[in-house]
Amino acid sequence: MERLYLDHAATTPVAPEVVSAMLPWFEDFGNPSSLYFEGRRARQAIDQAREVLASRLDCLFGEVHFTSSGTESCNLALIGCARAALANGSGRRRILVPASEHHAVLNTAPFLAALGFQLEAVPVDQFARVELKALANALGDDVLLVSVMTANNELGSLSPVVEASRLARRVGALMHMDAVQSFGLDQRTVDELECDLLTASAHKLYGPKGVGLLYVRSGTPVLPVTTGGGQERELRAGTENVAGIVGFAKAISDCVPGTASARNSFLKNLSGKAHPTIPREIPSLCSHAHVRFPDVHAETLLIKLDRLGISASSGAACSSGSIEPSHVLLACGYSSSEAAECIRFTFGRGQDDRFGARAAELVNDAIS
Ligand code: PLP
Repeated sequence: MERLYLDHAATTPVAPEVVSAMLPWFEDFGNPSSLYFEGRRARQAIDQAREVLASRLDCLFGEVHFTSSGTESCNLALIGCARAALANGSGRRRILVPASEHHAVLNTAPFLAALGFQLEAVPVDQFARVELKALANALGDDVLLVSVMTANNELGSLSPVVEASRLARRVGALMHMDAVQSFGLDQRTVDELECDLLTASAHKLYGPKGVGLLYVRSGTPVLPVTTGGGQERELRAGTENVAGIVGFAKAISDCVPGTASARNSFLKNLSGKAHPTIPREIPSLCSHAHVRFPDVHAETLLIKLDRLGISASSGAACSSGSIEPSHVLLACGYSSSEAAECIRFTFGRGQDDRFGARAAELVNDAIS
């Protein structure tokens, strides 16, 4: 059966060129920390990959730290900055994040609380973008860090991150950006984004799963959250995933700005029963179509779509057997029942307007 994969925000296929670049590094198995030939060769591969990513971000080679995921990078940014603040005597104990952040950020709250820090949720608008006024009101000289996602993973909306950073820096707070959804699509450098820390993950841009990076601007106080060897400039202990890192660099090298043609054609061809939640004039990722189907239960529709060959998702989370509504949609002001009517369709490489129209046809069949 024909399958239409419409969940690129969850993960992307690994591009064949990325697989080819990675394969030799399963045979060349040296540990990059070893000083002999095999180790030096692996180290060189990591260094070359770091160079590629540093050049993409337009930052220094040593400012790129490889991790195991976007989740680990977000954890390291928040908890690592908190640990450093404790160590260097800073009295700042508040960390501000929009309420629609990914759980990789939000779920650091208990860890931060155990260290004496408070993670505070800042309101967002109906499109999941940080409310700058609310952020400005919450900021003070007791704020250590502000963390804002560049693009929301569910709705695809772009947040005013540069403006948020300017507000944060005005009170001497650090700025972390979770760029997992936009890295590769968004061509801005770390200086253009005006951030101190930035998280990205390879598997959202046709690279492998299990590889992330944390950019840390030189001089930013951050301490490790894992202990062991001194890898990644003493910031992230653990033997590096050489093949994965090489794959990450290849993936970003091959990344081109996407087109919105499949998404636009999908939205254009959907029946009137489907209500897109992000109007055209709201800046958003070209991949995302977030749609509400009034009076339709999204989880039931997703099962129906799967049978018809469509892979898509809702932001609902399954916890202890029951389905929890998306925290993102609740933060945007949706009721639980409205949130349970929403589905995210995310398009990717090689999908054109005809593909978008075909996807819409199948969705229309499913809701007719
Ligand atoms: N942040 C955002 C915005 C995401 O969308 C994701 C993954 O979906 C993550 C963080 C976590 O990244 P990873 O899957 O590499 O752990």
